[in-house]
Amino acid sequence: MDLHIIDEIPNGLLEVSPAELHQVLPGPTLLQIPGEKEPPFFICTLLHGDEPTGFLAVQQLLNHYTRQKKPLPRSVWLFLGNIAAARNQVRHLPDQPDFNRIWKGGTLPEHRLVDQLLTLLKSNKLFAGVDIHNTSGENPHYACVNKLDQPFINLGKLFSPMLVYFTRPDEVISRALADFCPAITVESGLAGDPFGVDHVLDFLEQCLALDNIPTNTNNPSEPRVYHSIARIELPDNCRIGFGEAEQETDFNFIENLESMNFIEQPENTLVGWRCNPELKLKVVDEHGEDVSEGFISYDNGEIRLIRSVVPSMLTTFAPNILDDCLGYLMQRYALS
Ligand SMILES: [Zn+2]
Repeated sequence: MDLHIIDEIPNGLLEVSPAELHQVLPGPTLLQIPGEKEPPFFICTLLHGDEPTGFLAVQQLLNHYTRQKKPLPRSVWLFLGNIAAARNQVRHLPDQPDFNRIWKGGTLPEHRLVDQLLTLLKSNKLFAGVDIHNTSGENPHYACVNKLDQPFINLGKLFSPMLVYFTRPDEVISRALADFCPAITVESGLAGDPFGVDHVLDFLEQCLALDNIPTNTNNPSEPRVYHSIARIELPDNCRIGFGEAEQETDFNFIENLESMNFIEQPENTLVGWRCNPELKLKVVDEHGEDVSEGFISYDNGEIRLIRSVVPSMLTTFAPNILDDCLGYLMQRYALS
């Protein structure tokens, strides 16, 4: 799998839906679009094929300047990731890795592609980088940073006053980019919500208008920063359901699980029910250690939180829970 690099907007790119993108591009592609300022602003999207918001926002952005016959205020390098998965509107195809977990080296063909792209990005100075996603559960819009340096925080704040700082998983593109330029991930709510497209478009316009990324720290509007401390994983091939009704399941979770996202949940909060006492949820911290016993208790089949936490990305979309995780647990983080 090789990286395709093109330097003009191909016919059809600005009109097709993400599912039709395969008719225009042969595979994962870097599009280098010149603008008035250098170095380029790097935009990555469609790493997950069922998360169209970033692509739709970029399409509107490029349509706007193309129609007005004006150059972009700054050069843009646009990487469109999993076009084959976008065709089927799935996170990734069954025979593919998760494109959001391939940015730290490996032996798959996709790792070779990543290596080509990162080598190119590293050897050209970038202004900044952003990777645009949707969440499969209800979440407020937020930005993720993998470093707490001021340019990263200030870039994230342009998108949302709510930031998540995480160091694991560390196979994400924003982590790889952070070694050589300010980089963030933005989570723009549910796929299909037009507000998400408007919000991302507005954010991209702001980024392109910047002459530099502010490095100041004495800002009156400090963002609310959460530190992601653990993720909740399920045993392979387990059966899951929602609500308390008896079903042929191993775990049932509360029906309004997603409403817990970004809200402080006190100690002893009910998360769900364990129907199969042989199985356990696995809570893994940032060092990959199993810390389940510090977070989850099972009493009379009820799954409860042992300590107060702020969950994020909790989802009721079963395929993503089984492919990735149930969600993350966070703590408020004080920027000193
Ligand atoms: Zn995603």
